[in-house]
Amino acid sequence: MNSEKLSRRKTIKILGLGAFGILAGGSVIKQNSKRHIITLSFDDGFEKSSIRTAEIYEKYGLSACINVIATAHQDQFELPNEYHKWPAGNFNLWNDLKKRGHEIMPHGYKHANLKDIPFAQAQDLINKCLEVFSKELKDFKAEESVFNFPFNASTPELENWLRSRVRAIRTSGEAVNPLPHKGLFRIGCISFGPDNINNHLEKTISEFLEGPPGWLVYNTHGLDDEGWGPLSSGFLDELLDRLTGAENVEILPVIPALDSV
Ligand SMILES: [Zn+2]
Repeated sequence: MNSEKLSRRKTIKILGLGAFGILAGGSVIKQNSKRHIITLSFDDGFEKSSIRTAEIYEKYGLSACINVIATAHQDQFELPNEYHKWPAGNFNLWNDLKKRGHEIMPHGYKHANLKDIPFAQAQDLINKCLEVFSKELKDFKAEESVFNFPFNASTPELENWLRSRVRAIRTSGEAVNPLPHKGLFRIGCISFGPDNINNHLEKTISEFLEGPPGWLVYNTHGLDDEGWGPLSSGFLDELLDRLTGAENVEILPVIPALDSV
């Protein structure tokens, strides 16, 4: 790990150039031949976990990707299952985290499985979800957002319809996506649970970094004792420390990754 630590300053310097390239002879050269982007896509918006996740990301100057349910903070919210029983954050928290540079994106109106209900009903729930975000989350624009399907459950019909509503969707599919390019809309991901995911995440990232360039999207949930397939906060801290010291690795939320073409 020593060489990784030594290269950390160099990597940060390169990232600081903004276009994830290096200046050479006055031009920016993309390092796509080695580029590995990692997005940890945190779902469900548990209050305690989200605050802690943001703090850990901030320690490394990074933006977290947090996907929240439009109504989970309301008293009448019906738990979709036992893995949602922890208090969810509200839009005061989401506005604060967004202001601090984190990505806050929709993860459904009430966390229904949109694959199991009629198309019109699923459309209605997505519309209601986007309406809540437009009203409650400062500067939210549906057409610039990522819709993160609850349970990563989507249908081709819903996906096609969403092309005219949002910038991108995250749903089930290959976890290693192609590097961001113009027109990339459907983002696949991997998730693991219901128990602690530390080892699975470690293994998934190691394999990804040994492979060809790409964009790994790993769908995480809560930290420590919260949510389905939780991640230990200490492990997240150690992981980000290690990854920010590795060359050609970028930890990005979805929109900055899409913008980094
Ligand atoms: Zn969820």
